[in-house]
Amino acid sequence: MDVQKIMVVGAGQMGSGIAQVCAMAGYDVFLHDLKQEYVDRGLATITKNVTRQVEKGRMTQEEKESILNRITPSIDLNNASNVDLVIEAVVENMEVKTSIFSQLDEIAPEHAILATNTSSLPITEIAAATKRPEKVIGMHFMNPVPVMKLVEIIRGLATADEVYQTIEDITHKLNKVPVEVNDFPGFVSNRILMPMINEAIYTLYEGVATKEAIDEVMKLGMNHPMGPLTLADFIGLDTCLYIMETLHEGFGDDKYRPCPLLRKYVKAGWLGRKTGRGFYTYE
Ligand code: NAD
Repeated sequence: MDVQKIMVVGAGQMGSGIAQVCAMAGYDVFLHDLKQEYVDRGLATITKNVTRQVEKGRMTQEEKESILNRITPSIDLNNASNVDLVIEAVVENMEVKTSIFSQLDEIAPEHAILATNTSSLPITEIAAATKRPEKVIGMHFMNPVPVMKLVEIIRGLATADEVYQTIEDITHKLNKVPVEVNDFPGFVSNRILMPMINEAIYTLYEGVATKEAIDEVMKLGMNHPMGPLTLADFIGLDTCLYIMETLHEGFGDDKYRPCPLLRKYVKAGWLGRKTGRGFYTYE
């Protein structure tokens, strides 16, 4: 299928990165969010990223301008009425996602593919909110999107082979590497990563070591580029909690119980880098 126009729903950390890489690959993109200020914040991030590329000599001023011109801001979901692909990147919450998918199902053209960037929620359940489950698929980008190569592609129970193939081809065009995985809570990436982060939070909670010491052990001892608590702040503690809850509920196994300290931070609004405070504080 020939995809030319894309809508990205959610202009946060992930949505703005996804819109950027789609525009860089030559696609026309709507960047959609609930309020103009959220869309503006996403656009400001993209502008900052591509300006840095020009400063480093990796992109010309003309390329920068044509990338930015390919992105159209949107606060009206009806703009999905003439796109070929929607990539949803709103909060990691099943109710919010299913509500958006059922609206998109009414608005988007019949041929359009509806993809979700969910980190852990079942694709099959999101697809069931639509009358086109064969055209619903998981397209899980990594953070920060412009830098990270991997896209996990997740088939729901009903996803059609041609839809999978189209998304795999687009992933290559975005200069990313697709990896096919099945629809299970957390897929591969977060089934392995998030319990490690949760365990690091338990280690802090139980007073085994300071946050700096925990991060240092994993950086220097395991060669991780970032310690798990720094990484949790980077991902967003609300997203980490949602993913742990999905694993806990999805497998019904207490080994995935979210750490009470993680819950406490999220309740306090300490969501990490994006709110200026998580395990660490940010200017
Ligand atoms: P974020 O909080 O930075 O952004 C979410 C955006 O969605 C916000 O701008 C919010 O206003 C918008 N939004 C909420 N409800 C909406 C609605 N009904 N309609 C339109 N927009 C709406 O979150 P994020 O980190 O970008 O995560 C988004 C998704 O990507 C989640 O599903 C998350 O699990 C997934 N994800 C996150 C990471 C990560 O490292 N943060 C990595 C991979 C995937």
